Amino acid sequence: MNKNRSVPIYWGRNHAKIPSAINADATSIIPETTKIRTKLLRWFKRNERDLPWRKTKDPYAIWVSEIMLQQTQVATVIPYYEKFLKTFPTIQSLAQAHLSKVLKVWEGLGYYSRARNLHQASRLIEKRFKGKIPDNLKDLLDLPGIGRYTAGAILSIVFNKTVAILDGNVKRVLSRLYAISGNPAISKTEDLLWHISESLVPKGRASLFNQAIMDLGAMICTPKDPQCPKCPLIDLCKAYGSGKPERFPSKAMNKKIPHIESVAAVIRKDRKVLLRQRPLRGLLGGLWEFPNWKIHREERLRLRLRKHIKDEFGMNVKVKESVGTFQQIYSHFKLTLFAFYCDGVKTNKKGRWVPIPRLRLLPMSRIDRKIADTIQESPLQNKS
Ligand code: SF4
Repeated sequence: MNKNRSVPIYWGRNHAKIPSAINADATSIIPETTKIRTKLLRWFKRNERDLPWRKTKDPYAIWVSEIMLQQTQVATVIPYYEKFLKTFPTIQSLAQAHLSKVLKVWEGLGYYSRARNLHQASRLIEKRFKGKIPDNLKDLLDLPGIGRYTAGAILSIVFNKTVAILDGNVKRVLSRLYAISGNPAISKTEDLLWHISESLVPKGRASLFNQAIMDLGAMICTPKDPQCPKCPLIDLCKAYGSGKPERFPSKAMNKKIPHIESVAAVIRKDRKVLLRQRPLRGLLGGLWEFPNWKIHREERLRLRLRKHIKDEFGMNVKVKESVGTFQQIYSHFKLTLFAFYCDGVKTNKKGRWVPIPRLRLLPMSRIDRKIADTIQESPLQNKS
């Protein structure tokens, strides 16, 4: 890496230098705008990623891909995207589907509010816009699950409107290109990056440009070990000029996530088990689960479990052998679940008795799916 190159202006902490006229002529306010556009578009022509949602112009399919790509890697998204479109090939088919089916197809992808919002938005699009995805910012932002980034992606990629995007990849590329040292999670830095992104989008070529900058971030300007010698913007990049491009953008302090422990009940009777559905709003909303409750480690698990089941389901059970200990890491906590078989009677007030072979048909979180798989494989399921 050439460490002797001169390092031009740093915008990191001196936001006073930042122009505020967002609609001003971009070439006059963002350095090297024309060169950046030209080099990036030329590079994209030769290096565009081969992605399934790039083979279509269907606004619905592109919308689905953008929702799935929020907080999820491309490689993980591809099989889910294909399965989702096979199951719900049109907005109409999604709008008419039962939420439970949508969650089932989404199972394993995480962040289930995305699926619920997608489903709700499809019904609103049917009702308000006769099944056509709106092509303006206001109407898009009124739909659940569509924020500024997703609206920008739909408007630029589908309708080629001159609208900016700012996802994790774009934030990283722009922070490095202009050596912006602030943390993009802080609104002041994020506002600046939005401003730069808006200024760079070329009129009439927004679709290509936005996809190009996303691809550069995903393929070349990666979080660790950016491939600067292969980058079309190397001559213009201030972070490269600093000698340590990976220092940009600065990262948020890693917060220690809490560890939660819970006890779960596999209450069985006549080859059925008792499940409950999580409330629609909130974490894992709408998914089915084995009844579970938070505990403190020192508690006597079996006694506690018996009492919880009595309180919630009005049922006396015998707590039997352990199903196992299961773990899952979520974005903001780590969960350890101690699961036990319980022998019950079908006099419960709540919940649903589900035949064990039908467990695979219900949408569940990863940890509940692990429990379901364990009991399906266990000879103990035939007890009681
Ligand atoms: S030169 Fe390096 S740091 Fe700069 S944009 Fe390209 S890959 Fe990123």
